[in-house]
Amino acid sequence: MVRVNSIKFSVNFKGNNQGKQIQDPVIAAALEEMKQIKFANDDVRYVKKMGARPPFKNGRQAYDFIKDNDIKVKFAKLPSDDIHAQWDVANKTIKINEQYRGTKSKAIVLAIAESTLHEAGHAKDLDGASSIQEEINCLSLNSMAHRTLNAKDPGIFETNDAKILKNGVNLYSDIYFNKDLSGLMDKVKRSYGHLPAGDYKHPASNFASAIKNDEPNFVISA
Ligand SMILES: [Zn+2]
Repeated sequence: MVRVNSIKFSVNFKGNNQGKQIQDPVIAAALEEMKQIKFANDDVRYVKKMGARPPFKNGRQAYDFIKDNDIKVKFAKLPSDDIHAQWDVANKTIKINEQYRGTKSKAIVLAIAESTLHEAGHAKDLDGASSIQEEINCLSLNSMAHRTLNAKDPGIFETNDAKILKNGVNLYSDIYFNKDLSGLMDKVKRSYGHLPAGDYKHPASNFASAIKNDEPNFVISA
C-alpha cells in the first residue's frame, strides 16, 4: 500500500515576511521543517572525523542565517531535472527545482528542507565558489538531517521515487554513512571532481584530497 502523507499548510506570514513577497506554501513548510532539525551527536562526531566541517550546528542556525541575511528561497527553473537545488549568489537566492512546486508529498517537503540546508551551507561564505571540501561540508548537513528526519518518522522516505529523493537526499545519506566510503568518493568525484580539493575558506581535508587525487583506499583514522 502506498502511504500518503499530507502536509498541513499552516503558514504564518507575520514578522519577517511582512511587506515582502509571500512565501510559497511548500517552501514555507520546508523552512519550518528545517528549523526543527537537530543532529545526533554521534553523527556530528562521525562526519568531523571524516574531515567534514558542518557549516551549521542545527537547522535553526541555518534558518536564522537565511532570515538575517535576507536570502530568498524559491522554486525556479534549474538547468536540469537532476539539479535539485542551487545557490545563486548574484540574486542571494536558494533555488529549488520547480518540478516540485505544489507537491503534496511530505517526503519531498522534507527533501526540500534538507536541500535548503545544504545550499544554506554554500551561502554561508557569501560567495558563489565551491570546492570538494565545501561540498563535503554541505553534504554532511543534509546527510545528518536525513538521518534525524528518518528516525523521527521511519519509512517516510521510502514511499516516493522522485529524483530529489532517489538520486538526492536518500542516496547521499546512504553513501555518507557507510563503512565503505567508495560510493561517496565516486559520487563526489563524478559530481564535483572538476572543483579544487579545497579553497582558502575551506582548506582541503585528507578526505577531500583523496577524492581529488583518486586515492580509493582512504580510511577514517581514529
Ligand atoms: Zn553543494
